[in-house]
Amino acid sequence: VPVDLTTVIVEAVDRSRVPAEDKGIDLRVAGELPRRVHGDADQLTMAFRNLIDNAVRYSPEGTRVGIGLSSRDGIAQVTITDQGIGIEAENQERIFERFYRVDPARSRSTGGTGLGLSIVKHVVSNHGGEVALWSQPGKGSTFTVRLPELEEGLDDLSGLGYGDFRDDDAARLTE
Ligand code: ATP
Ligand code: MG
Repeated sequence: VPVDLTTVIVEAVDRSRVPAEDKGIDLRVAGELPRRVHGDADQLTMAFRNLIDNAVRYSPEGTRVGIGLSSRDGIAQVTITDQGIGIEAENQERIFERFYRVDPARSRSTGGTGLGLSIVKHVVSNHGGEVALWSQPGKGSTFTVRLPELEEGLDDLSGLGYGDFRDDDAARLTE
């Protein structure tokens, strides 16, 4: 099913508006509108919610969380950047594991189960995409999600009954 990524991002950001405001965090979305992707809007919204929720949760008051949108060569790219506590290199792989939390004592007070990022990874890879992480302790983190975009042309044709158009159909037409 075609999914409008912009709508997904807006809905995901909305969920974090109040928590961000409570912490005096400046939450912003910038960039060009990505095109549509193929997939499940609810799952994608849940994945981006998790990333934005983390960015706000693991950042001190008065910092900035930025969500950047771009699109290049048929790939939509969404970056979630924070100026938070960051993640040590040795933990950067492990945080995508189920139930893994860097500092269980501290994160108990911030709530959560440690499932968020494992869900993110699953949802993104189910959509043919990937998640990358850049982070430096004390400086912040950037999570980058890349998703293949839908080819709009093909999608429009399917509505006209050319959904299963194949090479030999094309050959027949040009005969
Ligand atoms: P929840 O299930 O509610 O999402 P969680 O946030 O602890 O709980 P994950 O989202 O999977 O679980 O994140 C795992 C761990 O990775 C976190 O506990 C935290 O230690 C670390 N982490 C995730 N995002 C960030 C971030 N933006 N900055 C710093 N640490 C982070
Ligand atoms: Mg989380």
